[in-house]
Order: sequence, then C-alpha cells, then structure tokens
Amino acid sequence: MGTAPGEFEIIRDFFASAPVGEGVALGIGDDCALLQAPASGQLATSMDTLVAGRHFPADADPAAIAARALRVNLSDLAAMNARPLWFTLALTLPDSDAVWLRKFADGLLQTAAQFGVSLVGGDTTAGPLSITIQVIGHTESPLRRDRAGPGDHVYVSGPLGAAAAALPVVLGEQRVNADVQLQCERAFYYPEPQFPVAAAIAELASAALDISDGLLADLGHICESSGVSADIHLERLAVSPLAQTLAAEKAMALATGGGDDYQLCFTVPQQRVADLDQLGLKVTAIGTLIEGSTGVRCWHNGNPWSPAVTGYQHF
Ligand code: ADP
Ligand code: MG
Repeated sequence: MGTAPGEFEIIRDFFASAPVGEGVALGIGDDCALLQAPASGQLATSMDTLVAGRHFPADADPAAIAARALRVNLSDLAAMNARPLWFTLALTLPDSDAVWLRKFADGLLQTAAQFGVSLVGGDTTAGPLSITIQVIGHTESPLRRDRAGPGDHVYVSGPLGAAAAALPVVLGEQRVNADVQLQCERAFYYPEPQFPVAAAIAELASAALDISDGLLADLGHICESSGVSADIHLERLAVSPLAQTLAAEKAMALATGGGDDYQLCFTVPQQRVADLDQLGLKVTAIGTLIEGSTGVRCWHNGNPWSPAVTGYQHF
C-alpha cells in the first residue's frame, strides 16, 4: 500500500474489509448493498454530516472524528428505540493520506463493532473534509416526538452541559490539565447513545428525542410536534460536573442551551410515572407539559429564568 491510495484502493484497503453483519445479503463492492429487513416492525433511518471546521477541528484525531460521526447517528436510532443494523459512509477527503485513513477506519470499525452495526456501502470523493453517515435500524416499538400530552412529566436521561463546556477545550481555545483535557475529548467525541434508557422507557414514554441542539430547543421540538407547552424547573436539572468545573457561572446556560450531549429528553403520562419510578433509572424529572402554545418556560427556585443561549441552528 502506497502513502496516497487511489479511490478504489481506499475503498478496498480501508472499508471493504468491514465485517459483514446480520441481515447483509450483499455488502460493499456492488452498485448497492442487499439487506434483509426483519419480518415485522419498522426500519428506522437517519443521516448526519460532520464538516471539518464546523463540527470538529480539521486536525483532530481521525479515530475520534470517526467515533463521533457514527455515535451521533446511533444516538438518533437510540432516540427512536431502534436497534442499529447497518450504516453507509460518504467520505469527502482533501487528500489521500493512508495514515489518516488507517486511524479513521480503525476508529470507525471499532465503534461499529461495539454497537453491533455493520458498514454496507458508501461513497468516496475529493473535497473539503466531511463525513456523512446514514444509519438504518429496526424497531418494534418506536419512540416519537409527537405523542406527548398535557400533564405528562418531562425527564432528562443524564447530566447536561459537558459537551458544550468541552468545546473551547477541544478547539484549543481553553487550556486545561491533561486529565480535564481527556474528559473534554471523551465528552465531545464519544457521546453515549442512550439505548438502554430508550429500551426501558419504550412502553411508558409518550415522546422522546435525543438532545443534540440543546435541552430548550429540543424540548421545544417535542412541544411543537405534540401541540403542547412545558414548564421546567432548572434547580432539578442535573448539570454536568465538567461544565461546573470549566464554566462555573455559565454551567446552567450550557446545560440548557448547549448541544451535543446526546442524552434523551422524554415525557411520561402521569398515570405511568409510578411504573417509571419502579425501573430505578438514573433519570431526572424536570417539569411538566401544559396546554397551550407558550413554548418552553423555565423556572429556577420559583423565579422565571431566561436562557442566555437557545440552541444551535446552522442558518
Ligand atoms: P458506484 O460507482 O457504482 O457508485 P463506487 O465506486 O462509488 O460505486 O463504490 C464501489 C463500492 O464501494 C460500493 O459498494 C460502495 O457502496 C462502496 N463504497 C464506496 N465508498 C465507500 C466508503 N467510503 N465506505 C464504504 N463503502 C464504500
Ligand atoms: Mg454503480
């Protein structure tokens, strides 16, 4: 293998060796992959693009970029309570660099093995560094955004704010010690898709999504899709210790407005709350849904609270 493999060598040497997983009748190498859909339930599919300079620094560790690209896609499957099956990869590279590609492919296929999802195809082009992954999963019991109702309780699956607090460190704008640096890289590049929580709440929750744009923005999406509003009490919210360490006075703003944590936000009807409590999950109840179109209203120790940041939008 040379140091600047051509397009077909890239596919052959780095990606075509991906292990063939469950339901793959024909994998990488033909015009299409052939996939066997499970006999019942539904397929769930989603796609996310990561662009260098916008979603990650261009000189970041290729294995970490790959992990993040796949994990954020897997998080969408988790948010729908779908089991991951397959994914495709559209890779745009500024140049052909065998060392970079080896690290990227190893990180990608290691993450794929960890979550039981197999690479079944893709596209390889030259251009500014960008990674698009499409995932396909299967669900018998999907969690949607549009089934919440007034009176439902609102939950978050874990602490928020770590990834947003980590961003300036990851971008090299804030210097920290080696231990904190590592925590930041983990928070930003290795978000944990919340499959176990999703599976546990699938029969109880009225709505769910993963928090990619910020709690207030994403809860706003549930409200809009379901035609309800929300009152949330921020003193109940679990704020990440990393956010508290890195940005003490801004920690609440990051936990409510910063994205990229990929925890779940979900709602449970009042009459199922006792069943949820029985599961003993480490989730936090942060408020309730109400009728009307006031959107998401925040309270802090009984006082109205206004967000400083309202979630990320590209345009
Ligand atoms: P075509 O010209 O028919 O579109 P390509 O030459 O683009 O096919 O790709 C050849 C095969 O390699 C296809 O099976 C395609 O899905 C796969 N492939 C191309 N790029 C990638 C990639 N980055 N990762 C995984 N599979 C890829
Ligand atoms: Mg073709």
